[in-house]
Amino acid sequence: MKHILIYGFVISIALFTMYSCGDDEEACTESTWFEDADGDGLGNADVSLQDCDQPTGYVADNTDTDDTGGSSLVEGTTPVSAFDEFNTDAVTVSFNGDEITIESNALPNHTSPYWATDNSLYIDPVVATAQQMSPGRITQGSYTLTVSTSPEIASTTSSTGLGAIGIAVTGVPIFNDEEGPTGSVSEQVASGFDYAGAHMGPTGYHYHMEAQDVEANTVLSYDDEKLVGILSDGFLIYGRKCNASDDYPTDLDGSGGHSSTTQHSDEAFYHYHIINELYIDKYYLLFAVDYKGTPNRIM
Ligand SMILES: [Zn+2]
Ligand SMILES: [Zn+2]
Repeated sequence: MKHILIYGFVISIALFTMYSCGDDEEACTESTWFEDADGDGLGNADVSLQDCDQPTGYVADNTDTDDTGGSSLVEGTTPVSAFDEFNTDAVTVSFNGDEITIESNALPNHTSPYWATDNSLYIDPVVATAQQMSPGRITQGSYTLTVSTSPEIASTTSSTGLGAIGIAVTGVPIFNDEEGPTGSVSEQVASGFDYAGAHMGPTGYHYHMEAQDVEANTVLSYDDEKLVGILSDGFLIYGRKCNASDDYPTDLDGSGGHSSTTQHSDEAFYHYHIINELYIDKYYLLFAVDYKGTPNRIM
């Protein structure tokens, strides 16, 4: 009997609370609040709720472009000295106000079995066998990319597509992990790559992977902090290690990027790294994630 009385009392309280809530809702005006997961006072436009009062962890602002990296994320200006790393035989870099144009004839400054046999840079295959190699020889191409000198992080990331997604320091186009509309690079396709992590396709010679650690590799980044190239959103991509820590960076976002100094700048700026995770047990994909910036067309 005592218990029934207590339950009745609880139900009465609950009913009273519900009714008084109803009264409150009529009296208040709901506002939209945006999640501020990183506590920098700026809210994420993609995560919101309606409430009369400001909920904990939510703010009225909706202008945070990265609600995970916080206010420490510096976009910065791309250091001009980075462009000294590009192969001048293949790549022309021109600066025009707040734009940089990178033009390449796609002819790399390193050896490969994909060169014509009478080319001075031709070598016999060292990684793939001749049977595994894809058909075709390195020929001159034409790639032009114009980016901002101070690329910005976009409000949302965007996926890369088939074809060139960037231009490497050697002048060769960088591809993602896709091999045609059929899907990602298979073990069989990868077995045809040269030590540079490249092979031939319908549009020419292109990189998918980090280069391999073979004697013939004297130019390309392997397990180091070397500059790899520039992606079409204007952000530079470096090897698996970062000059700022002299080690594998531990603060990379989902795009493999972070803000720090590099060998090219004492000022922190946003850049990508090759993500230090194996693909098919033996390769490191150059860039198989989403752009953090806004991609420009590579023509
Ligand atoms: Zn390919
Ligand atoms: Zn870095």
